[in-house]
This record gives sequence, structure tokens and C-alpha cells, in this order.
Amino acid sequence: MKALVKSKPERGIWMENIPEPKVGHNDVLIKVNRSAICGTDIHIYQWDDWAKSTVPIPLAIGHEFAGEIVEVGSEVRGFLPGDRVSAEGHITCGVCRNCRAGRRHLCIKAVGVGVDRPGAFAEFLSVPAFNVFKLPNVISDDMAAILDPLGNATHTALSFDLVGEDVLITGAGPIGIMALAIARYAGARHVVITDVNDYRLDLAVKMGASSALNVTRDSLDNTMTELGMTEGFDVGMEMSGNPQAFRDMLRTMHHGGSVAILGIPPEDSSIDWREIIFKGLILKGIYGREMFETWYKMSSMLQSGLNIEPIITHHFSSDDFQAAFELMESGQSGKVILNWSS
Ligand code: NAD
Ligand code: ZN
Repeated sequence: MKALVKSKPERGIWMENIPEPKVGHNDVLIKVNRSAICGTDIHIYQWDDWAKSTVPIPLAIGHEFAGEIVEVGSEVRGFLPGDRVSAEGHITCGVCRNCRAGRRHLCIKAVGVGVDRPGAFAEFLSVPAFNVFKLPNVISDDMAAILDPLGNATHTALSFDLVGEDVLITGAGPIGIMALAIARYAGARHVVITDVNDYRLDLAVKMGASSALNVTRDSLDNTMTELGMTEGFDVGMEMSGNPQAFRDMLRTMHHGGSVAILGIPPEDSSIDWREIIFKGLILKGIYGREMFETWYKMSSMLQSGLNIEPIITHHFSSDDFQAAFELMESGQSGKVILNWSS
């Protein structure tokens, strides 16, 4: 089968012919129709220090996808060939304390599809049936291909009560913008989002931001004054991975506010801990998606008015992967979809 393989320890990704994956007793084989490029895939493409120390090569990468089941293992219950599905990309051990307690997202031995084991930028993908999520008819293949990052946004955004609250999101990447849409859906008052990239800030305005500011030109303090905010943000979502953005967030939080942190900063980034202590802030680190509560929540929201369609800005045939990766790397895009069924 065709797959996008990280086959050399250097910048790039290559379309290769590799054997179809094996299907274990508890696995399903999925024919991939659509996949989406994630920031993680760009790190692997660029072959940065994180990728070098994490990804075993050669490896077919990719973890955001939608497809159709074509084969089920002998022990699999509840899924049949023909089911339209996506899947949770964190494969959990099932035996650690958190797994046994149903807190699968906190598994101490989670393994990543397309990072530690063969991924979804391929014609076929084999994953444990446990990880598979059956798609309601109303969720298109395009939308289903981005449920993984929408799940990051959902897990982060629904960590704290948003009704009537003033929300600050730092980072208008695809996940920040989807979190903005969820905050709107959930009934926030003001949703302010920051970035350094005007393309993405324009997209954020289309998706309902009260204010989308470029921190290289505008200040959060001015924005708060313009919006009539006097006491700071009630809820913060850090989605840039930029330490200065996080420091600005802590500085403009209301006393007693809550901050969910998804963005991954460089090692040893510093913050002023006094902002947290004296303001009594509550901080929560976010990893992945809650299994499978986040999946049900986002699926239900998509069926009841949450519209994130504008975040998909580009489509490519899988054969045009090079152009797709270069576009995603440039930052002049929202989500970029690869079509494997043509
Ligand atoms: P992304 O890189 O596309 O988005 C990050 C955005 O932050 C970019 O648009 C960038 O221009 C912006 N940014 C840079 N400097 C900034 C600054 N000073 N102020 C405000 N914005 C600034 O990434 P994404 O896919 O949207 O993911 C968001 C973050 O979440 C990334 O850091 C990613 O690594 C991380 N992530 C974490 C998890 C997890 O499980 N914890 C999962 C997925 C992604
Ligand atoms: Zn576990």
C-alpha cells in the first residue's frame, strides 16, 4: 500500500510502498479516506530534536484521519466492516492504575499512532478496536479527519465553566481557533485570542472572536479597556506554546481565575509564580483527549450547532503531500486535508 513514510533521518517525508498492516485479534483494519496534517507531523517532517529523540524510523506517520472499517479481528465486538470511523491516536496500556480506573488519558504508558507506531498517512491503518470511534452520518469525512485536534480543543475548553465568562486564548493555531468556537458555543461573554500571524487572526475573527490581536502590534491591556473589562480574564487557554504568551496570560488573569495549558513550551521556560500564588489561580495541564468522554462531547456539539468548518482551509490529493506539508509549515493555513480515496 501507499504510505507517507519518515524513512530518512533528515528533513522531509516520502511516499513509499509498504506492506499492509497486520490485524490482531482485537484490532480493526481501516481504509483511510481523509487525513489531516498536525503540528506534530510538521515537527517530524522538519526532523527537529523532539522528533529525533522520539520517532523510530522508518515509520508511516499521521494520526488525524477518517475512514471505513474493512476487516475486524476475531475478538472484536461492536464494529463491522463498512462502519465509518475515526480513532483515538493514544493507545493506552489498559493495566496501569489510571487505565484501570477509567482515566485512560492519564495512562503512564500511552503509545502514539503515527509517532511511536505506524500511522494514518497510508491507505490502510490497523488500530485496537477499543480506540475506534464510530461516526454519526451528519459528521462528514473532512470533519471527522480533524476530530483529534478538535478533541484537544474540547478537552481544554470544557475543563472550566465558560458560561458568561471572559476567556483569553493565547495562540490562534487550528486548536486555539477551534477552542474559540467552543467557548462561543458554550456561552462565554468575551473571547479574546492572540497570535503573531494575521492569516490566523483573520480566521479567528470569522469564527467569532470578540477581539483577535496581533501581539507584535497591539496590547492585551488596550483590548481589555476597549471591551470594558476591568478585572481580568476568568478563564485562560494557553494554546501557543510560547512562554511570553503564557506570561501575558498570567498577568491579565482575574484573581481566582482558571488556566488550562495545552501548548507545549520549550524546556525550562520561566514564569512569574507570584502571579499564580497571589491571584489564587487554578492551573490544569491538558494532554490529548479524555477517553472517550471528549469524543462523545465533540460529536454531540457538532450535531447541535458547533460549526468549525471554516478551520479547514485547504484540500490536497495525498499524492500532492509535498505542497500540503509546505503550506502547513508556512502557517498560512488552517487545517489541511489530504484525500486518500481519489
Ligand atoms: P500551532 O503551532 O499551529 O499554533 C500555535 C500558534 O501560536 C501559532 O499560530 C503561532 O503563530 C502562535 N504564537 C506564536 N507565538 C505567539 C505569541 N507570542 N502569542 C500568541 N500566539 C503565538 O499549533 P496547534 O496545532 O494549534 O496546537 C497548539 C499548541 O498545542 C502547540 O503548542 C502544540 O504543540 C500543542 N499541542 C498539545 C497537545 C497536548 O496534548 N498537550 C496536543 C496537540 C497540540
Ligand atoms: Zn495505562
